[in-house]
Amino acid sequence: MIKIAFFDTKDYDKALFDKYNKDYNYDITYFESKLNSETAPLAKGFDVVCIFVNDKADKETLDILNEYGVKLLALRCSGFNNVDLDHLGNIRVVRVPQYSPYAVAEHATALLLNINRKIYKSYQRVKKYNFSLDGLLGFDLHGKTVGVVGTGKIGKVFIQIMKGFGTNIIAYDLFKDMDAAKNLGFEYVDFDELCKKSDIISLHCPLTPETKYLIDEKALSLMKDGVIIINCSRGELIHTDALINHLSSGKIGGVGLDVYENEEDFFLKDMSGSYVRDKNLSLLISMPNVIITSHQAFFTSEALHKIASDTCQNISDIFNSGECKNELK
Ligand code: NAD
Repeated sequence: MIKIAFFDTKDYDKALFDKYNKDYNYDITYFESKLNSETAPLAKGFDVVCIFVNDKADKETLDILNEYGVKLLALRCSGFNNVDLDHLGNIRVVRVPQYSPYAVAEHATALLLNINRKIYKSYQRVKKYNFSLDGLLGFDLHGKTVGVVGTGKIGKVFIQIMKGFGTNIIAYDLFKDMDAAKNLGFEYVDFDELCKKSDIISLHCPLTPETKYLIDEKALSLMKDGVIIINCSRGELIHTDALINHLSSGKIGGVGLDVYENEEDFFLKDMSGSYVRDKNLSLLISMPNVIITSHQAFFTSEALHKIASDTCQNISDIFNSGECKNELK
């Protein structure tokens, strides 16, 4: 029987993996801990290690897993920036490249509407019977320019949604999809031009050495006054110190973040009884024009079912046929 060490387990993961595992009969042990070099010994004696976005498969961790004879790292997510692909040794890696681009693109839209129309503020006010509109002024999305960084699966769905609002779309991507540009009606520009022209910027590219701190001091300086920035991709795309400087100066109109560069110590867990030792995160949470969700964009029922079913199938493909279309090579 294939033995799986499942890291960073939440109740909803267990419920769905137990459901889909009825067809596969894997021997799954669920650990609450995240994978890193300190927790890697938990994986001793297992064939497969199953991880999510904030587990860390760096060189040190992979060396330990190799020593234990772990054969497969099964990512139950699409991004793989947390895996050091140069130090895999004998370990193969599979992922779920697409579970629901709609989930993430719709969440990015929710953050944008929430920030622009100040829904979070009005919700709290009305709860206290304060029906005043002071400070709740937004703007029409219709006719505005939306800059989309990364026109892959999620970026394209986001563009389709934004088209429904009557916005003009400009996009930046290292690899242009000219068919999509023609069919969806958007234009590719270089990154600086996107920064200069956009009223709204939404990030949908992966975290790579090239995109780390893509939104830095220089990029922020180029942006229009009042720009709204949405990040549902990875926290390290944005240089947080620079973002806070430009929020404090009043240049940025609003920010919606589903990810944060040091999120792994905080996101996806209840910290309400603890002291959050991260000044930048506390500062961002306290700002009136910032809304933060806790890496929630993927979190729809459809996405969770697909993650569980595809991860079980990926593992079966590797162990039964030796080939898996979702293997990272
Ligand atoms: P995708 O691979 O379909 O698309 C990524 C796009 O980014 C591609 O078109 C690619 O060419 C482009 N790209 C790569 N390097 C670039 C660069 N240096 N500059 C500009 N563009 C670049 O991926 P996807 O499924 O659309 O997902 C995008 C990202 O969303 C993932 O990498 C992941 O980080 C993030 N994500 C977040 C959540 C969440 O819950 N918040 C869930 C899923 C995915």
